[in-house]
Amino acid sequence: MNPEMDTSKSSILIIYTGGTIGMKTDAETGALVPFDFSAIYDEFPSLKRLNIDIDVRTMSPVIDSSNVTPDNWIALAKLIRDNYARYDGFVVLHGTDTMSYTASALSFLFENLAKPVVFTGSQIPIGVLRTDGRENLITAIEIAGTKIGGRPAVPEVSLYFQNRLFRANRTTKRSAEALNAFRSYNYPPLAEVGVNIAYNFPAILHPEIASGTVSDANAELHIAEHLADGIVVLKLFPGLNEEILRSMLSAPGVRAVVLETFGAGNAPTSEWFIRALHDAIRRGTIVLNITQCGGGKVSMELYETGLRLQKAGVLCGHDMTTEAAVTKLMYVLGQELPEEATLALLRKPLRGEFTI
Ligand code: ASP
Repeated sequence: MNPEMDTSKSSILIIYTGGTIGMKTDAETGALVPFDFSAIYDEFPSLKRLNIDIDVRTMSPVIDSSNVTPDNWIALAKLIRDNYARYDGFVVLHGTDTMSYTASALSFLFENLAKPVVFTGSQIPIGVLRTDGRENLITAIEIAGTKIGGRPAVPEVSLYFQNRLFRANRTTKRSAEALNAFRSYNYPPLAEVGVNIAYNFPAILHPEIASGTVSDANAELHIAEHLADGIVVLKLFPGLNEEILRSMLSAPGVRAVVLETFGAGNAPTSEWFIRALHDAIRRGTIVLNITQCGGGKVSMELYETGLRLQKAGVLCGHDMTTEAAVTKLMYVLGQELPEEATLALLRKPLRGEFTI
């Protein structure tokens, strides 16, 4: 154990939103039925051995995460805000399919977050013998409840899956099959779990670092209550035609485009392509360049192909994931700020979502 580890009792709120983790096999019929998280101590008596008090809330309705919407994200953020003072940390149980989107969105919605919000789920239902959910759940609870020197060990929105804790807005679901389904290609794990939980302290964001001021560590939690609509993800591929590109860029309601480019932020240099983007930017559409490669970053100065995009007014998304880019745009545009202020927020990392 870390010598500074605080052994005072913590209290955790588990919020179940839906997904595979919340299912178990009915002993009589063999069918999958919902797992009752409110009876968590009956299901896992060993949890009593953790020095942590656990309460459970179930979102209504419980959903498959493919059906999640920005309204669900705001409802979840409000539930955490309304219970923020009562608990030391939060564990959110969520379907894996869109967990990285929800967790990234929450990272932006919370301003001055100073307590852990740990997302987890599982690939195999928790009530199935070979489940990965049991370990994911128990370790997520332990991480959410860990304090060091009286302060939470990981006071940011994180995602725990198969022995690794990640910054949530750096994650992507990468396997529909493997138990280690999530990756954080461009940022190291916040903790690695073996016999012990090894925290990577220098990698963890603290509120005073996130906001640039020390006093904000004690500031009240705020949540943004509006997420903008009108975001498009456009993945480039050789053979994309002008008519389709133009119709996507000029579709009614489009406010911002996440442009998934090749390699280090490259795109065709054809006049029609650059002109189509330039016209959209002149109409006020934001175009944010991220790479469609999992790892690495956009460097628009590296090649002529990237430089042309920069000159057309395309913004650099550095090493952001699609999930972070989409939800950051929803959050920033949702504030309805003047253009320069909007661009300023997009050019800097707000919650550690990219590395410059
Ligand atoms: N379809 C499920 C969901 O995302 C899959 C899972 O939980 O792993 O809700």
